[in-house]
Amino acid sequence: LRSGVDRLGDLIAAARTIVPFTGAGISTECGIPDFRSPGGLWTRNRPIPFDEFVASQEARDEAWRRRFAMEPTFAAAKPGRGHRALASLYRAGKAPAVITQNIDNLHQASGFAADHVIELHGNTTYARCIGCGETYQLDWVKQQFDADGAAPDCTLCAEPVKTATISFGQAMPEDAMQRATELAQQCDLFIAIGSSLVVWPAAGFPVMAKNCGARLVIINREPTEQDDIADLVIHHDIGETLGPFVGN
Ligand code: NAD
Repeated sequence: LRSGVDRLGDLIAAARTIVPFTGAGISTECGIPDFRSPGGLWTRNRPIPFDEFVASQEARDEAWRRRFAMEPTFAAAKPGRGHRALASLYRAGKAPAVITQNIDNLHQASGFAADHVIELHGNTTYARCIGCGETYQLDWVKQQFDADGAAPDCTLCAEPVKTATISFGQAMPEDAMQRATELAQQCDLFIAIGSSLVVWPAAGFPVMAKNCGARLVIINREPTEQDDIADLVIHHDIGETLGPFVGN
C-alpha cells in the first residue's frame, strides 16, 4: 500500500486539475452500505425501477417505507476520511468539483459547495415531484404518509413525489451529465473511488477521461472492469488510502 499511496501522492502533486469520481464505497465507513458488496443493499432488496414507481401506488408506498427505514442511517452519517481528503483537494484549488454516483449528500457535508458536487444519480436527502419538479422535505412526506397510510402526491400537480434520486429506467439529469463530461475531458488526473464501475452511463466517465489524455487512478477494494486501462490501481480500503491526504 505504501508505494501505491506514494505514487498517488506524486500524481496528485503533478496534476493541474484533478477530478474525483465517487461511488458507494467511499461512504461505507460512514455506515451507509453499498449495493454490491456482501451484505450490500441489493442482497436484501431488489431496486424498484422507475416505471414501476410511476405505475403503482403499492410500489411507491414500498419505496417510501424503505427510505424511511434508512433515515436513521443517512441522518447519522458524517463524512469519512475519503470525503475529507477530497474536500482538502477542493479547498487547495486542485479539484474544481467532484462527480458522484452517491445520493447521500456527504460531499456537501465535507465542505464542497453544492454547485461543485455533480450528482449523477440525484440526492436522497430531499424529495421531488416527478411531474413538475417541485421539491419537498422528507419530513413533509413522512407526515403525509403517516396521516394517509400512503405515499403522497404533489400538492401542485398531483403527480407522485419521489426521493430526488435517479432510479433505474429514469432519465439521467442532463445538466449533471454535461458538466461531468466537460470535467472528464478537461482534467489531467481522474480518480475513481469506491465504485464497481458497472452502472452506465456513469461508468463511462473514467474511460472518457482516459481517452482524453488524463491519468486514471482507481481506488477500490475489489477489482473493477476498468482496472486494465488505469495508470494506477489501489485495491485497498479507501479511508486508509486517502487518510494521508486529509487536511493538506
Ligand atoms: P457499488 O456498490 O456497485 O460498488 C461499490 C464498490 O466499493 C464495491 O466494488 C466495493 O468493493 C467497494 N468498496 C466498498 N467499501 C469500500 C472501502 N471501504 N474501501 C474500498 N472499496 C470499498 O457502488 P456504485 O459503483 O456506486 O454503484 C451503485 C449505485 O448505488 C450508485 O449509482 C449509487 O447511486 C447507489 N448507492 C449510493 C449509496 C450512497 O449514496 N452512499 C449507497 C448505495 C448505493
